[in-house]
Amino acid sequence: MKTLIKAARLIDGTGAAPVKDPILVIAGGKVEAILSGTVPAEFADAEIHDCPGATILPGLIDTHVHLNLPGDGTLLEEAMRETPGVLMATSTFAVGKALAAGITTVRDVGAHERTAIDLRRALQLGHGEGARVLACGQPITVTGGHTWYFGGEADGEDGVRRKVREMVKLGADFIKVMASGGGTVGTQSWKPSFTPGELHALADEAHRFDRLATAHCLCAQSIDDVIAAGFDQIEHAGFIADRKGNQVYDPAVAERLAKSGIPVTSTLAVGGAVLREMRARTVLTPADQAFLARWEKMAADNMAQFRKLRAAGVSFVAGTDAGWRFTRIDDLPLEIAMMHEGGMSTMEALVAATGYAARVIGLADETGTLKPGLAADVLVVSADPLADLAALRDVRLVMQAGKVTASRQPL
Ligand SMILES: [Zn+2]
Repeated sequence: MKTLIKAARLIDGTGAAPVKDPILVIAGGKVEAILSGTVPAEFADAEIHDCPGATILPGLIDTHVHLNLPGDGTLLEEAMRETPGVLMATSTFAVGKALAAGITTVRDVGAHERTAIDLRRALQLGHGEGARVLACGQPITVTGGHTWYFGGEADGEDGVRRKVREMVKLGADFIKVMASGGGTVGTQSWKPSFTPGELHALADEAHRFDRLATAHCLCAQSIDDVIAAGFDQIEHAGFIADRKGNQVYDPAVAERLAKSGIPVTSTLAVGGAVLREMRARTVLTPADQAFLARWEKMAADNMAQFRKLRAAGVSFVAGTDAGWRFTRIDDLPLEIAMMHEGGMSTMEALVAATGYAARVIGLADETGTLKPGLAADVLVVSADPLADLAALRDVRLVMQAGKVTASRQPL
């Protein structure tokens, strides 16, 4: 039995001009064809979702989430007091919520022990519905380093090679490395964590097992070290220069990053979500006000750096850091809107969260674009996101591998 979706336009995720009056033909969980105009007679028996005025897109991809974390302001240190069972339940709710928002794939870049990998397995077995999960298992970090609570501590060139092998043994889809400190208490965001030799060993060992390697970098030196070590992707690409969190953009590092061709995950939504939360509060304590002021500066710096890095030729892929701070698991539309605010066209921002995202994380042969033979991971929204990205919040229908997982009739 075939399924058809009719709408006003279709964006295929490659950046190509939208198809007018499209008919998306789905069979066996995959895209079979993209037609336009009136439904041919041969499809008289097909199930038809008629969505006048709507836009068909590939299901969205968030390349940077933490399923274990609730995204309600709970700090990592508090969240990690919970048992693995609670973290697993939190993760299970998160993938369901993501899917309902049209995010059909999430890449978990750090979870406790094997929780994200086990959730991926349960979903593969068909035990429930949720966004498809790609997982690194535990992010590899120095002893006491950023997110050490997840269990990924390793030191020395032999030690980090062994940790990569452990992650591969657990079933990691890719390898995530914390190349600088971060928001974990006691870590140094303004300094590299691993030595150049350890980073080289990490990237090399990941590649020996055909895994992509991505690195969290919040300071300039960590970006340089990760480029030299041959990583495939960089998360954040921050320029934190001191313990107060001041950022100092370095054009020479930006130039080397652009030349390397390594894509960067934007994670602008972290700042955007903090500002949304704090500005919505009617009462702010002095501590809240200081927190807000710090984040206003951080978010402005991040946006300015996003613009400068793009101008230097660095390419960005969409990722929210959902779970962290106040970033919600369905905040990818916020990230896409902020990428647009930072100078991307609406089409470029959508591609950064669909076709380009799939390419960067190694899923281009499965999902991310609407092409014959790829999974029918589909998001239908009521209006035109090219005209106004707010349309992404008005979800009409979500389909994962050809199965409708969420739908709403228009009022
Ligand atoms: Zn993160």
